[in-house]
Order: sequence, then structure tokens, then C-alpha cells
Amino acid sequence: MSSNKAGNRIALVTGANRGIGLETARQLGRQGVTVLVGARDAARGELAASALRAEGIDARAVPLDVTDPESITAAARTVEQDFGRLDILVNNAAVLRDQGVPASEATADVWRETFEANVFGLVTTAQAFVPLLKKSDAGRIVNLSSSLGSLTIVSDPASPVAAWIGSGAAYGASKAAVNMFTAHLARELADTPVKVNTIDPGWVKTDMGTDAALLEVEEGARTSVWAATLPADGPTGGFYHLGRQQPW
Ligand code: NAP
Repeated sequence: MSSNKAGNRIALVTGANRGIGLETARQLGRQGVTVLVGARDAARGELAASALRAEGIDARAVPLDVTDPESITAAARTVEQDFGRLDILVNNAAVLRDQGVPASEATADVWRETFEANVFGLVTTAQAFVPLLKKSDAGRIVNLSSSLGSLTIVSDPASPVAAWIGSGAAYGASKAAVNMFTAHLARELADTPVKVNTIDPGWVKTDMGTDAALLEVEEGARTSVWAATLPADGPTGGFYHLGRQQPW
């Protein structure tokens, strides 16, 4: 693995000021990774980074709104200037705007807002950082998807997420698009050391997942951390939950 002056790998986690992103930054930091806490609100990012530093983690806040291409470019420039490369990119930031809204009622504006963050934001961020990930000898990209982005699972009336199906079509479609982008980018980078995977964290107790969710945030971050730290012979171009392949 690459190392910076302090001997650490460098990871950028988007939407890392709370929820699964913050916990992913924490778990990577505990493994000795330098974590760049991406947050669209600079103050919230600094608060999260300072909380991680208080736990002994090498964490720095990086202002990053995935819907603002200028902020993505600025973040990539900062990482290039400070480190010259990136080892791990966790594309975690996302919104859920149509929870409980049936497919026949979610407006085009809701679809646009969802795709702006979850798809166009993720794609633009990945594209901005690929050149820096190629400078790592073990680059890893982790794209946060969902079981709701699986056509196989969503079309199965007996699936464990059946209760959710019928609402959240924009969110699910955005995650299916993330899966497709992952498959293409992994294929494009197959001859490089960069591995690209898409993951389902599970149903996790966060603001998005609600208190009704099954998993604590510690377990919810586990799949992201696993995919972010895959060894050289690990998989690329797959869709995983807790180390198990998920159906597309
Ligand atoms: P969350 O608690 O709602 O946190 C979302 C994070 O994304 C926040 O830090 C938020 O920042 C950030 N964010 C939203 N829009 C952004 C933007 N334009 N630019 C930068 N950051 C932005 O969600 P979570 O449950 O931790 O979810 C993390 C990931 O896991 C998401 O991709 C989600 O779709 C996926 N996921 C979650 C579950 C679940 O059960 N929780 C299940 C399947 C998949 P602010 O604080 O500024 O709003």
C-alpha cells in the first residue's frame, strides 16, 4: 500500500460528517488511515473531524458538496497539493427524498434532486479523483448503493425489503445507476491497481435509515471499510453486503 510522509494511507469519505460516512471515517482512522472528512457544510465537517482527532485519529475536514462541481474540483486540488495522490475514495454522500412516496406521485423535481446528489454528484466526484487514485499503488473506490438499487431484489415480492417497495423509486433508480457506473468504471480500470466496488451497507440506524433499522452504525460501516481495504487479490466490479455478493 502507498503511504504518506507519516506512513498512512489516505482516504476521502464524502458525507462523512454524520451517519455511515462518519463511522466509516472512524473505522478507517482506527486502522491508521489518514481520513479526509468530506462535508458540504464546512463547520459540520470540522466538528466531525475534530471529534475523530479527539479519538486519536488523523482526520482533516475537506469542504465537499457533491452537487457543486467547483467544490469537487477544489477538493481534488487540495488533496493533490497536500498528498499528491489518494488511496481510498468512499462515495458515501446521498439523499433519500421519496421515502414513503409512491412511484406514481414522486415528482420530476424529486427525481432530479435525487439524481443530482446520488448519481451526477457521485460520478463527478469519482471522475475528479480517478487521476489521484491512479497515483496510488492500491487505489480503492467504494460506491454506496442499497438493496433498493437491485432490480433482482426489488422485483422479488418475497424479498426482505418488500415492505419498502412501492415507494422510493427515485432513490432506488439512483442506486441502480450507481451500480451500473461501478460496473463500467471497474471494467475501465481493470488493468490498473484501482478496484471499484458498489456496496449495500444494510438497513442502518442513521437519520436516513431511522431508529427502526436493523443494524447499528458500527455494523453499517463495515462493508464500506471492507471494500476500502481490499487486498491486491480482492474483487473489483462487484456488489457486496458484509463480504457477500449481492444480486444486481
Ligand atoms: P444520512 O445519515 O442521511 O447521511 C447522509 C450524509 O450525506 C450526510 O453527511 C449529508 O450531509 C451527506 N450529503 C447529502 N447530500 C450531500 C451533498 N450534496 N454533498 C455532500 N454531502 C452530502 O445517511 P446514511 O444512512 O449515513 O447513508 C450513507 C449512505 O448509505 C448513503 O449513500 C445511503 O444512500 C446509503 N444507504 C443507507 C442505508 C441506511 O439504512 N441508512 C441503507 C442503504 C444505503 P449533511 O449533514 O450536510 O446533510
